Amino acid sequence: MRLMDQCHDNCRTCDLGLFPHDSVREGQEEFLEDARMCLGQRTHLLAHAPTGLGKTAVALTAALEAVSPYGGRALFLTPRQSQHAIAVSTLKAMSVKADVRAVDLIGRDDMCLAKRSGPAPCSLGRECYFDQDPGGTPDRLLERPLHAQEAMALCLKDGVCPHRAALEAVKHASVVVADYNQMFSRTADILERSQLDPSSTILVIDEAHNLPARAMDNHSAALTLDGIDAAIASPKLRHFGEDLGLLRSLVAKAVSSRSGLLASDYVDRPLKRECGVDASGLAEEMEEASKGDSSAWPVIGALRVWGLHPESAVRFAESGPERIVIRCIDPLPVVSPVLSKVACALLMSGTLHPPEMYADLLGAEGAVCRRYSSPYPTENREVLAVGGVSSRFRQRSPAMYKALASRISEICRSAPGNVAAFFPSYDLMERTREEVAPMPLGRTVICDRRDFGKNERDAVLHRMESGRCLLMSSMNGSFSEGVDFCSGLLSAVAIVGLPVPPPSRDRDLAMRRMEGRLGKRKAEHYMTTYPAVAKALQAAGRAIRGPEDRAAIVLLDDRYLMPGLRAAFPDDFRISRCDDLTASLDAFFARRREG
Ligand code: SF4
Repeated sequence: MRLMDQCHDNCRTCDLGLFPHDSVREGQEEFLEDARMCLGQRTHLLAHAPTGLGKTAVALTAALEAVSPYGGRALFLTPRQSQHAIAVSTLKAMSVKADVRAVDLIGRDDMCLAKRSGPAPCSLGRECYFDQDPGGTPDRLLERPLHAQEAMALCLKDGVCPHRAALEAVKHASVVVADYNQMFSRTADILERSQLDPSSTILVIDEAHNLPARAMDNHSAALTLDGIDAAIASPKLRHFGEDLGLLRSLVAKAVSSRSGLLASDYVDRPLKRECGVDASGLAEEMEEASKGDSSAWPVIGALRVWGLHPESAVRFAESGPERIVIRCIDPLPVVSPVLSKVACALLMSGTLHPPEMYADLLGAEGAVCRRYSSPYPTENREVLAVGGVSSRFRQRSPAMYKALASRISEICRSAPGNVAAFFPSYDLMERTREEVAPMPLGRTVICDRRDFGKNERDAVLHRMESGRCLLMSSMNGSFSEGVDFCSGLLSAVAIVGLPVPPPSRDRDLAMRRMEGRLGKRKAEHYMTTYPAVAKALQAAGRAIRGPEDRAAIVLLDDRYLMPGLRAAFPDDFRISRCDDLTASLDAFFARRREG
């Protein structure tokens, strides 16, 4: 059945197609039109679509309308499981208009009903209470869109494994909500495993600014001495003693000789000579033999990626722990083949800026790139750049930390509500905090920590409800991306310094690779300028969560005054030079009170 067959001619619902709301918001129309056009014509669309634009509703509407005439499917992929909820809620709203056969697919461990702690029993080879044919349950899962928790409750009643039932349901679904890993991991993707035709599949990749890093991480691994020892100790792998012993000696030799970069045949050649297989062949054999024994997984994973991307990965030895690291430094060979085999993809994010960069990095050939403006009034956000301070390494000193602390203190004195200060690193945050501590801020200072879990982060948000807090955090932590600040929680955000990636061997190698692939100029922008801009934008975005929010964004680094860097921000992120911070903030907050 076609998705829109349930609608009668010329009704309001038909005007909107499957769009789940009564009307299309201002700014949303253009995005919906582009998405319908691109996905209808099987063209990739990369969309910088700021918060508030209703991306999920647009993307799911366009994708489902495009696949329904030929019985294809949309895969809605998110970087985090917590982001499934909004997609499933949107599908529920759409299912009022038409038959939407949807599956919310999360990890086996997270769906497991038999699991108490650690991995699901079945993945450890132990007998599973629910391990049986899911019968008619997959069909029942498809009757209406269900959140994973609701699907689990249904499976509990039916006495079947929820993950197994969800995987069966994928084969007949019109839309699957899943994690990036289902398409961009180093093992077979969900389409392959479910024997589905990729050419009738449209991908929607949410929060797509995360995709390059996630794709590279998924194709990176480490071959550690500890991991090899654990595999040697596994009774199921006793026939691999010789191979694992050889691997062990190769890792130990590379670590002790402090060798630089290792060629991809560093492991392959001796393995082939002594054992007759290369790294990937050994991984396959060990996987077969170790079924259900998780102690061998780290070694198998590392062997799998060893030769996967000869040109786009680097291998080097490290000590503490002793290991050979295999690091993928270019997302192109991971993502591009996936984009080439599916019908098309819609990549979207509030910070997919500039979208052309992501098309280049990911190999999205022939893609249409679009930037949409924020749907919120520009006057709700005052962006001020302050000179005389910087996070540059060569300028870091006690005097600089004090200067940064004074600026933060000024913001705290002017802002009527909570202030968040985001730093390029926890180290700079700590040093500035020491200078902030004796200052009379008239508010509680809360410092984020690397080891904060969800409960601690929730407690921080709870404390901020008092409205008189200064939150200090890192732009690499969860508070700048991931944690959802509710509307109105922040009056001001300080972006302390420019969060350029710190120098490292990986970065140098990746830069060289990008220079070879895209030229020196693009490599510099793509590896340094835009990643810093993306982090600053993410952190700045914490303050404006709804149409009523008004907040000041203060950029504390003289580099934000440079025309080249200002031009790297989206057009609607208008940065004003600020010489008198207190006066500018007081004027903004006075306007805010009046308005
Ligand atoms: S088969 Fe399913 S329910 Fe059973 S242990 Fe494995 S994941 Fe859990």
